[in-house]
Amino acid sequence: MDDSQSSSPVWPLVFIVFAVVGLFCGLDVFSRDPHKSPPYSDYTADSLLGAKWRWDWNVDGVTNLMCYCPECDMQLVEHCDIDESSNFICEHCNDKVVFSRKGPAGEAFNAATREILRRMRTEKLPQS
Ligand SMILES: [Zn+2]
Repeated sequence: MDDSQSSSPVWPLVFIVFAVVGLFCGLDVFSRDPHKSPPYSDYTADSLLGAKWRWDWNVDGVTNLMCYCPECDMQLVEHCDIDESSNFICEHCNDKVVFSRKGPAGEAFNAATREILRRMRTEKLPQS
């Protein structure tokens, strides 16, 4: 019992430290929009690979990435060729091939994501 009483003056100090840390963390949580927390969160559209791209941000980075026709804004459809390249077609523009990419369709999305992140790193973002 003597040991616990001799250490008791430390507890108010620990409590105060945790209270202060908790207060600052709490204020930080309230001031932060979880959907806007990543950097460049306003950067959600750009022209890449010959198409228009739009996306959202989450804690992992780029999400909901989609590509659109630069002329009519129709969402593009992916078609894979026999030679294993992917064509991104606008159905509204008479199945016009907007852009092609070697490899499966997912590679185009990976390439677009890499380019978005590269532009973020180099801060070569489009002027809004
Ligand atoms: Zn189109």
